[in-house]
Amino acid sequence: MNVQKQGSARVTAGVSFAARLSFEDIFHSYASGVETLRGVSLTAEPGEVLCLLGPSGSGKTTLLRIAAGIEPQSSGRVVLNERVIAGPGVFLPPEQRSIGLVFQDFALFPHLTILDNVRFGLTALSPEEARHEAMIALERVGLQAYAGAYPHVLSGGEQQRVALARALAPRPAVLLMDEPFSGLDSRLKDSVRAETLDILRQSRATAIVVTHDAEEAMRMGDRIALLKDGRLVQVGTAEELYQHPANLFVAGFFSEINEFEAAVENGMVETPLGRFPAPEALEEGAEATVAVRLSGFLVNQDSGAIPARIVSRRFLGVVEHLELAVPGADRNMRARIRCGQLPPKARDIWIDIVPSDVLVFTRQSFETQTIV
Ligand code: ADP
Ligand code: MG
Repeated sequence: MNVQKQGSARVTAGVSFAARLSFEDIFHSYASGVETLRGVSLTAEPGEVLCLLGPSGSGKTTLLRIAAGIEPQSSGRVVLNERVIAGPGVFLPPEQRSIGLVFQDFALFPHLTILDNVRFGLTALSPEEARHEAMIALERVGLQAYAGAYPHVLSGGEQQRVALARALAPRPAVLLMDEPFSGLDSRLKDSVRAETLDILRQSRATAIVVTHDAEEAMRMGDRIALLKDGRLVQVGTAEELYQHPANLFVAGFFSEINEFEAAVENGMVETPLGRFPAPEALEEGAEATVAVRLSGFLVNQDSGAIPARIVSRRFLGVVEHLELAVPGADRNMRARIRCGQLPPKARDIWIDIVPSDVLVFTRQSFETQTIV
C-alpha cells in the first residue's frame, strides 16, 4: 500500500501496514542480576505515537532493545500484529522484525554521504532499488537536495532527520526512537519535534518515542506510558496523567508540587494551605500525602483565605516563581504566578488555593500500582 501523491514536495509514502506492537508481561535482567523490567505489559496501537516516559535508569532503552531484537527478555512475549516475534522458543532476528530504531546520538557514519547513510540498511534490495528507496525516504524528511553531501555539513536537526530517514527507508511497521531530541539544543528542539511528528503521521508508522521529559511526552504522545524502576506506573493520555495521576510519583513527574503529610479526619485532610477533601478510598485516620501544584496559587494584596509573606521572587518572563512563608508550615511554599499580578514591592499578601491543583494520595500507595 505505497501511496504516493504525484507532484507533492514531500512524498507521503506509507508503511506496508499499520501495526500493533504488544509487550506481554516482560521481565528482564542484565548479567549483573538486577531486574531491569518487572512485568511490563503495554500495547502501541496501529498508527499511534506512544511516548515511553521515565527517569534515567527506569528501563526505557532496555524495553526498546527487546522490541528491536538486540536484547532478549528473560520472560514474557513481544507480539507484532498477531505474530509472536520474541517469546518462549521464538526469537525473530532484528532484520526480520520490520521494526526500525533511531538511536539517541543519531549515529550517522561521517565518511558516508547522506544517501549512503540512508541506504545502509537496505541490503536486501538491488543497488538501484536501494538508491530509489533511500531517495524516497530523504524526500519524506525534505533533505533530498543533500543526498550527495556528508553529515558534517548538516545542522543537528537535519542530522536527526537523516537518522529518521534511515530508519524509515526499509518501511518499518513500527519505529522506535530513543530520546531522539536529547542531543539538540533547546531552541531547535521544538521545531525538530514538530517536524518529526509530521513525518511520523505521514508515514503512518506506529511509533514508540522514549523521553525522560514529561513536557516532551505531552507534546508528542497520543498516549504516554510512565515507567519507574522497571514497572509501568500509569498509561494514558497527557490529560489523564496530569489530571488524574495514579500516585505521588506521577503527580511529581508532571508538575512541580508542594507536599504535605496529613491524616484523614472527617473525610478531610488539613494542611497549612487549608482543608481539602480526601478521596473516598482513604479511610478515616488514614495517612495521606497532599500535593499542591505550584500553579494552584491565587495571589491578592487585600484579601484571601491564607496570609503569606513573600520570601523571594524570581522573574521568568511569562511567569514568576515565588517562595512564600505561610503560618504553620515548617518549609516555604513554592508558587508560580503570572507576571504583573503583584506590585514589585509587595511583601505581605493573601493566597487562595485552586481546588483542582490539590491532589490527595494514600501515603506510599505507589510503586506497584498500574492504572490503564
Ligand atoms: P533508561 O533508558 O530508562 O535510562 P536503561 O534501560 O538504559 O534505562 O537501564 C535500566 C537499568 O539497567 C539501569 O539500572 C542501567 O544501569 C542498567 N543497564 C543498562 N544497560 C546495561 C548493561 N548493558 N549491562 C548492565 N546493566 C545495564
Ligand atoms: Mg535510555
